[in-house]
Amino acid sequence: MARKYQDLINQLSLKEKASLISGKDFWQTVNIDRVNIPSAFLSDGPHGVRRQAAAADHLGLNASIPATCYPTAATMANSWDEKLGEGLGERLGQEAAVQKVNILLGPGTNTKRNPLCGRNFEYFSEDPYLAGKMAAGYIRGIQSNGISACVKHFACNNQEENRMTLDSVLDERTFRELYLTAFEIAVKEGKTKSIMSAYNLINGVYANENEHLLVDILRKEWGYDGLVVTDWGGNNDGVLSLKCGNQLEMPGTPDRPEEVIKAIENGELDESVLDDCLDKLLETVFDTMENGVNKAPEKFDVEEHHEYAKKCAEESAVLLKNNGVLPLNKEEKVAFIGDFLYLPRYQGAGSSIVNPTKLDNTVDILKNTDLNIVGSARGFNRYGKKNKKLFKEAIELAKQADTVVLYLGLDEVTEAEGLDRQNMYLENNQIELVKAVKELNKKIVVVLSCGSAVEIPFIFDIDGLLHCYLNGQAGAEATLRILEGKVNPSGKLSETLPIKYEDVASSDNFPSHTRTIEYREAYGVGYRYFEKADIEVRFPFGFGLSYTKFEYSNLKVNENGVSFEIKNIGDVDGKEVAQLYVGLKSSEVIRPVKELKGFTKVFLKAGESKKVEIAFDDKTFRYFNTKTNKWEIEKGVYDIYVGASSDDIRLFGTVEQAGTGAEAPYDIADLPHYADGRLRKISNEEFEKLLGHPIPDGSLPFYKKNRMVIDYNTTFSELRYSKRWIGRLVGKAIPWFTRVLRKMGNRVLANTLVMGVVHQPMRGMSRFSGGGLRMSQLDGLIMIFNGHFWKGLHHFMKEGRKYKKLAKAEKKARKELEQPKQ
Ligand code: BGC
Repeated sequence: MARKYQDLINQLSLKEKASLISGKDFWQTVNIDRVNIPSAFLSDGPHGVRRQAAAADHLGLNASIPATCYPTAATMANSWDEKLGEGLGERLGQEAAVQKVNILLGPGTNTKRNPLCGRNFEYFSEDPYLAGKMAAGYIRGIQSNGISACVKHFACNNQEENRMTLDSVLDERTFRELYLTAFEIAVKEGKTKSIMSAYNLINGVYANENEHLLVDILRKEWGYDGLVVTDWGGNNDGVLSLKCGNQLEMPGTPDRPEEVIKAIENGELDESVLDDCLDKLLETVFDTMENGVNKAPEKFDVEEHHEYAKKCAEESAVLLKNNGVLPLNKEEKVAFIGDFLYLPRYQGAGSSIVNPTKLDNTVDILKNTDLNIVGSARGFNRYGKKNKKLFKEAIELAKQADTVVLYLGLDEVTEAEGLDRQNMYLENNQIELVKAVKELNKKIVVVLSCGSAVEIPFIFDIDGLLHCYLNGQAGAEATLRILEGKVNPSGKLSETLPIKYEDVASSDNFPSHTRTIEYREAYGVGYRYFEKADIEVRFPFGFGLSYTKFEYSNLKVNENGVSFEIKNIGDVDGKEVAQLYVGLKSSEVIRPVKELKGFTKVFLKAGESKKVEIAFDDKTFRYFNTKTNKWEIEKGVYDIYVGASSDDIRLFGTVEQAGTGAEAPYDIADLPHYADGRLRKISNEEFEKLLGHPIPDGSLPFYKKNRMVIDYNTTFSELRYSKRWIGRLVGKAIPWFTRVLRKMGNRVLANTLVMGVVHQPMRGMSRFSGGGLRMSQLDGLIMIFNGHFWKGLHHFMKEGRKYKKLAKAEKKARKELEQPKQ
């Protein structure tokens, strides 16, 4: 195909061309003023713009320019409202364009495989269909401003520990159905202009150089024509990734352009591959510059965006329990207790962190309510430290009230990028407080603030439970409006809340501490597993209460979709999320009991009834057949379930499908545990049958007991296995230091070290250094760790001197490149 920017590309030298495929610095692409190629700006993030003015980092450490902090993706998915997500995207994109951002790094679209993944708060759902639809909404909104969204992290980045070196091992069907479908929807329906490849490997190949993922599936099958950018510092092999269509390494390093030039010069790489990549890169840069950044308004409406963030928070809160205690009775005395009243928990930690334009705080706005409030108290310390004084104060206050509203949740450092959670518990001091208030015989309402699933052992001690997730800068007021009854809650869970962590299918191998993580449970994620294995859960997927009730009737099913009626039979107006699930009992292919295939959110006035339609689409009946290597439809009579949650099916029907005629990919009898849902008991043999090849060895490559050769992909913590004491010292000292910091109570610094250093591979030192540490200098350090101290030191110094000279020359050359055309 003819290249759009061929003329421009013709004017560039090989060096100039290669320089473009690696960033200029932490956030910008290279500009060549001589030929009027501008620099594009990339910026986080998924629920608010994090454009850093000065010091740059990818861990959310340094402050950014103020922007609206919207509810996180995990929260927004509970709204089950793509349009709402699109509205959020529109505003997010506008703020980005105002801040001259060309590519906004979000939304995060990974399927939530396990509740402990540290970044679950940034992801939409355990269900790929819901996640994909929400992501597509965000992307449409963001890109309506002429800039580009950047869907991430493509794909199978489902564990944070060792995320830069971990290999996700899974079978092709699970890969397609559970982990790629959301991205497919984001690409095909959202029409994202950029994608960020993930840090990890997938079945032995880095995502960023994975031809199967980036070429066969993304470009050829899905017809994607946009930009692929590395995750920050995630570039492993610069040439291989270029061959797979990765056009941009971020942050920039001088190594990648050099590697590419060398590969072209020695015939390993055809220059046309570089030109193809450049064409796409230039398209994104010029398009987002001309249609986005250059046309952006000068400012955005801070107030309107804050109000929209509030609306999002209102629509996303999930009422999980209500014994009639909510809305709060204005005649009764209410006490508000909890650390989170004083400082809201409204976003997660890491690269998504936003510096909000303003921040609602519950304790400051309580006075604006019509409630009969007897007072407020902190009650506990969010980090779990016992505090008798706070506890006593809270109990004294609770004694004066009829109803106690307890604001509970997870602290800021528990849910963070780069780290996985240790368990699904709330801190003990919070649970003790619930028990103590219960003993006073008070009515209890719990308001939960956390971005992921937690165990709720106190559920039978409380009368009301409102799960607000991480609801952004305007969340405090939104929550109060629901408690007061000014807003009728309409959110429903986008993930299952299990009774206990051990009930989760992947809990046996999460997080993995080896080099691989085996997705042995296959389809057994969230409700797909709990239903198949018949395991009771605390709250099912899709569940959420309202202050009114809805009645479903009159289901009609035809080849195009379903229609039915919903009636609001209560006395307040409300919104209902109706869900469509599809199953096939007599299947020759192993399947969950049912899967989400559609949903809609309807507003109904009290007493009103509406006809609702949900159309079938290309995903309703398909499954991925590993024998034909295609999506197929099995012949059969499919079960159609319409309900208020996955566990509250109100209407049932069937529809017949002729099928595509493909043979089943296996004999079910060979996969007995997969067939009946006993996914905790998958033997090596059975997993290998599903995989179609032997399970790769994930153990560290020791050449003798506890000793291994250090290479680019050895992490800092693995250095403890190096041949020489110096490596072992570094490898042990950093994790030891993090433990000491934790003991001293400095969890923030400890976590930052874990995020930024402990699981960082050696190559990361160079990839994040912006040219400060070249890969060839790193070779010297690696020699030292491998026992060649003097040789390594000599190499390190020699390369250092070489690059110092070169850097001078390059600075001069860059100045020349940036000279405008005469
Ligand atoms: C994260 C990305 C983020 C990037 C830039 C990485 O560590 O995984 O989600 O966009 O940093 O901050």
